[in-house]
Amino acid sequence: MNVFETEAIILNCKDHGESDRLIAFYGEIAGRLKGIAKGARRSKKRFVHTFEPCSLVRLTYRARKGLVWIEACSLLEPHLGLRADLKRWGYAALVSEIVLEMVPEGESQPELFALLKDTLDQLVITMDPLNVVLLFLLRFLHVMGYLPSLERCEVCHRPLKSSNYWWWHVSQGVLACSEHHPTDVDRLRLDLGTLVLIHQTRSFSLTKIWRLRISQHRKVPLLNALLDWVREHIKKDLRSLRLLDQLQSA
Ligand SMILES: [Zn+2]
Repeated sequence: MNVFETEAIILNCKDHGESDRLIAFYGEIAGRLKGIAKGARRSKKRFVHTFEPCSLVRLTYRARKGLVWIEACSLLEPHLGLRADLKRWGYAALVSEIVLEMVPEGESQPELFALLKDTLDQLVITMDPLNVVLLFLLRFLHVMGYLPSLERCEVCHRPLKSSNYWWWHVSQGVLACSEHHPTDVDRLRLDLGTLVLIHQTRSFSLTKIWRLRISQHRKVPLLNALLDWVREHIKKDLRSLRLLDQLQSA
C-alpha cells in the first residue's frame, strides 16, 4: 500500500464507532478524499486537535480502495480567528461545504487547494467576509469550468463594452443585453463594472484577486444567485446556510 504525505484542509470530521473518526479533507496532491483515523477518539496523543474543520494540517495516509487510512496528522494553521467570530465561521463552513459537495473525489487540482487555503486565510483577516466568499465562489466556479464566458449577448452577440447594463440568467449560463433578456425567468441584473470584475476574478493571479471589491449593493443579489445555482446543481440544500440565515435575522 502506498503512503502519501500532503498538506490538507479539513472539510469535516465525524465520530465513527466507539473509537474512530471519519475525516473529509482536501489535499494538495490528491484533491478531495475521505479517510478514517483509527483510534482518534481514544488516543489524544496521536491526533491532538488536528481534525477541526478549516484547519490546515500535514497528513500522512495510506491509499486504499474507498476510505484512505490516516496514519498521522499535525496541525499547521488552525485558523482560530474563524472560530472567534460566528459570521466568519459561517462563511468558512459554507466554503467547505461547497467544496465537499461539488468537487469530485480523488481528482488532483492544486489550484483549488491553493484557492481554498487562501480563502480561509483571507476570511480570518478581512473586514468584509462576504466579499471574500464571492471572490472564492467566482474563481471556484471558473476553475471547475462552470462559469460561462460572459463576453457578449447570447442573442445578438453585441460585445460587453457596448452596454452599461446586462442580465445574467445564472442557472442557464446565459448573458443577455437589455433588449434580449428573457422576462419569464430568474435573472440577475449586473452593471458593466461588476462584469469586468467577474472577468478579473478568473484572469488575475490568486494573490491579486483579494484586492477586488464588489459594490456593496451587488453583493447579496450576486451571492443569492450563485448559491441558488449551486443548490440546483447539487440538488440539495446547503446546511451551512442555516447558521448564516440565523445570523442575518438576529
Ligand atoms: Zn442582445
